[in-house]
Amino acid sequence: MWELNTIDNPILDESLLSLPGIGPSRAESLKQLGIRTIRDLISRVPRKYIHRKSAQTISELDDEGEAVVLAEIVKKSFLPKGRKGLLELIFKDRTGTAKALFFNVPRWMSDKFNKGETLLIWGKYKREKNIIVFLHPDFERGIEGNDKIIPVYPNEEMLVKEHIGMKILNKAILSSLDRVSDLPDPMPKKFLEKLCLPSLIEALIEIHNPKSAEKLEKAKSRFAFDELFIYQLFFAKRRLFAKLDKNATPLKPGKIFKGILSSLPFELTDGQSRALCEILERMMSPGRSLQLLNGDVGSGKTAIALLVALAAIDTGLQVAILVPSLIVARQHADWIADIVAGKKVEVGFLTGECRSEELLRRISSGEIDIVVGTKALLSPSVKFKKLGLVIIDEQQRFGVLQRAELPDRAGAHVLLMTATPIPRSTALAIYGDLEMTILEGFPTNRAGTKTYLRQETEREKVFDFISSRIEMGERAIVVHPLIIGDDHASARFGFKELEKRFGDKVALLHGEMQAEEKDRIFSYFRTGKVKILATTNIIEIGIDVPSATVVVIESAERFGLSQLHQIRGRVGRSDKKGYCIMLTSAKTDSKAYKRLEYFSKTEDGFAISMMDIEERGEGEILGLSQSGRPDFEFASPLKMNKILKIANNIALTIIDLDPELIEPENYLLKIALNNFRKSALILDSSI
Ligand code: ADP
Ligand code: MG
Repeated sequence: MWELNTIDNPILDESLLSLPGIGPSRAESLKQLGIRTIRDLISRVPRKYIHRKSAQTISELDDEGEAVVLAEIVKKSFLPKGRKGLLELIFKDRTGTAKALFFNVPRWMSDKFNKGETLLIWGKYKREKNIIVFLHPDFERGIEGNDKIIPVYPNEEMLVKEHIGMKILNKAILSSLDRVSDLPDPMPKKFLEKLCLPSLIEALIEIHNPKSAEKLEKAKSRFAFDELFIYQLFFAKRRLFAKLDKNATPLKPGKIFKGILSSLPFELTDGQSRALCEILERMMSPGRSLQLLNGDVGSGKTAIALLVALAAIDTGLQVAILVPSLIVARQHADWIADIVAGKKVEVGFLTGECRSEELLRRISSGEIDIVVGTKALLSPSVKFKKLGLVIIDEQQRFGVLQRAELPDRAGAHVLLMTATPIPRSTALAIYGDLEMTILEGFPTNRAGTKTYLRQETEREKVFDFISSRIEMGERAIVVHPLIIGDDHASARFGFKELEKRFGDKVALLHGEMQAEEKDRIFSYFRTGKVKILATTNIIEIGIDVPSATVVVIESAERFGLSQLHQIRGRVGRSDKKGYCIMLTSAKTDSKAYKRLEYFSKTEDGFAISMMDIEERGEGEILGLSQSGRPDFEFASPLKMNKILKIANNIALTIIDLDPELIEPENYLLKIALNNFRKSALILDSSI
C-alpha cells in the first residue's frame, strides 16, 4: 500500500505501545511480522473476510483443510497445567459434532465461553479419530442475527498462538485509524469523485471494518485502482521523458539492413513484416524508443531482432543482445554470424567464461557491431563506444536490477522480447512504458506439434516411440522437473534409465553442470553426435534445434502451464512435425490431470498464459517476485481491464498537464513516484 508512505504524519510513525490491547510482549510478536509502527499496522491488508454465509456445515468438511463453521458449544472442559491449561470445546451444528483445542491458555479464556452459545469458528482443521479437530481456531461470538463481515489478517495462526486474536489486532487498527482520521489523500479529489471511489481514510476504515459487502468492494476497488495507477503514472512519465531524450539517435536502415533482408534464408511472414515495420517506424522517430515484442513461442522473434539490430548498425550504433543462458547466447551468436557472414558486420560473444581483454577492447573501440551475451554483458567492465540499441530476449528471465545495470545506456533504444506471450492487459499493467507490438502467426513452413498425455505406466511405449524417431534421423528431449532424486522426476535417474536402453546416444544436461560442459553437450546434441538429451527445464527457454522432434515431459503435473508451453515449443519448429508427450501419475479424475488435458488441447500461447496467470498470479508467471516486484494485493489486471484503462488515462492526463508534478494537488503523487523509484522494486525496462 503505497499511499500511506507519501504521508508525513508523526502518529503514523509511533510505536504500537500506545494502542489498546498492545503491550510490550504483543508489540514484540508483531515486530516479528514486520509491524513496528502504526503505519505498518494499518497497511496490513486482511487476507480474507468471514461472514455467516461463509460457514460450511460440519458434515461437509474434508479430512483436512481450512473452514468456517457456525456451531453451538455443547461441552467445555479445562485441564489445568501449571498456571495455564488445555481448553477443549465440543460444538455441534445440525449436521455433526466437532472439537476445538486450545493449548496453554489462561483460565480466563475458558471462562469466556458458555455452553449453549453459538459461535462462528474458523481456522485449520484435521480429522482425528473420526472427529474434526480445530487447533487454536479463531472465533466470533454474538453472531446470531448479526451480519458482520469479519476481517482475517495474514499470519493468523501465528498471531493466535501469540495470543493476538483477530479481534485484538482489529481493535488496535481501528483505534489507530481513529487517531488519523484527517489523513490527506494522494489521489486528487476530482478523479476520485468522477470514479465514485472512496477517499483513502474511508477506504482504510472500510477494509478493516466493513459495513457492507458493497462498500467493502468499493474500498477494494479504490486500492486496486491505486495499485494500477501508480505504475501507470510512472510509465507515463518515463515515456514522455524517453520521447524527449536528446541522446537517442533515430535509426536509419541502410545498405546492411537491405542486403541481409533480401538474402535471409527464408521470407518473412506477414506477421513478421508488420511487426518489423512497426518497431522500426518508432525507432526512426525522434527520442528514445522503448518497445516490447510480444509473441508466441516459435513465432520467429529472433529474425526481427536481428533486422532491427542491422538497422542500428547502419546508423553507426552498436547493439547489445542480452539472452538468459549460455546455450541460447551461443546459438544466437552462431546463427547471427552465419547470416551476416561476408557483410562487414562484426559479431562478438561475451559470457562469464568468455570475455577476453581483446574482446573488451574491440567493444570499447567500436570495432564490434553486435555483442551477444549473457548477464555478464551487464558488468561495468564492458564499455561500449556508442551503444544505440539494447535487445533483451526472453526478458522475464532477467531480474529487474540486472536489467537496470547495463552501462552506457543513456539514449539507447530498447527492445524487449517476451519468452511467453503476455495478455494485453497484463502487458499494459506491467510494461506500460513500453510500446507493444504483437507478433501474429507462425512461419508457414512450421509443421506444428501434437501433444499427448500418457500415464507413467506407458513409459516403455514412449521409449519405443523415441527409438523409432531417432532411427529416422530425428532427435528427442526428455525433460525432468528435478535434477536429483530416485525416480523418474529426476534428470539423473531418468538419464540412467535412458542410458540402459539407448547407450551413448543419450547425454545428460542440467543447470548445475559447468558452463563449458553444458556448452559441449548441447553442441553434441545440435550436431547429432548425441540423439537424446535427458535434461531439466534448463531447455525451456529459447533453444532452437530443428531436428529435435520429440519432447517427453516427465511428471508433467509439476510444471507451470507457461513452462509446459515453452518446453513444447522446442519441437515442431521446422518442417518436421513435433510430438510433445507428457507423462503423469495423476489420476484421470484429478484436477492436476484435467489441467494437463486442457493444455494438451490448447495451442494458443496467449490462452495458456491467461490460464497460467489465473492459476499462479501475475507476479509468479512474469518472474516478478524474482525480479523483486511485488504482486498486486488488490489489483488483477486480467479482470480489471476497465479500471486499468481508466488508470492509464488519468495518469497520461496528469503527466501531460504537469510533467514534473509541481502542482499542489499532485504533491503527494510526486512523493509516491520518488518512493516508487527508490524502492528498487520497480522494473527498469528503459535500460
Ligand atoms: P521465437 O519467437 O520463439 O524466439 P525463433 O525466432 O527462435 O522463435 O524462430 C523459430 C524458428 O523459426 C527458427 O528456427 C527460425 O530460424 C525459424 N524462422 C523464423 N522466421 C521464419 C520464416 N519467416 N520462415 C521460416 N522459418 C522461420
Ligand atoms: Mg526466442
